[in-house]
Amino acid sequence: MTYSQAQLEAYLDEDLDAGMMSNIEVALREDTQLLNSLSTILSQRESGVHSVGSVWRRASITCPSRETIADGLLGILDDDYKDYIHFHINEVGCRLCQAHLDDLTAQQEVNQELSSSRRKRYFESTAGYLKK
Ligand SMILES: [Zn+2]
Repeated sequence: MTYSQAQLEAYLDEDLDAGMMSNIEVALREDTQLLNSLSTILSQRESGVHSVGSVWRRASITCPSRETIADGLLGILDDDYKDYIHFHINEVGCRLCQAHLDDLTAQQEVNQELSSSRRKRYFESTAGYLKK
């Protein structure tokens, strides 16, 4: 189980439901990475850096759906949406959506390779046929 920056911030604000609060507390006992991200957030707060994430969470802007992120990758989204996803992932640093994006990018590369090798095979067989 991984937690987004927004969830960790909410945890620090004690702004999550009881189940989620205790899940994170339990996870913190064994997950040093989680502990590290939490202490990073804390030290940023102490040094007065107001993370965009905490502002974002307070404004209750939610994650785009995985489909929306996929559409963004395909370039079939409105500019407003594209900007929002860019902001959400790069400025807010939503790790959940970043993970979706990485995942979808990898899938897209595999699909492109597949379709280009299919096209090549089709071309070769057509060329072979024409030679006869
Ligand atoms: Zn997100």
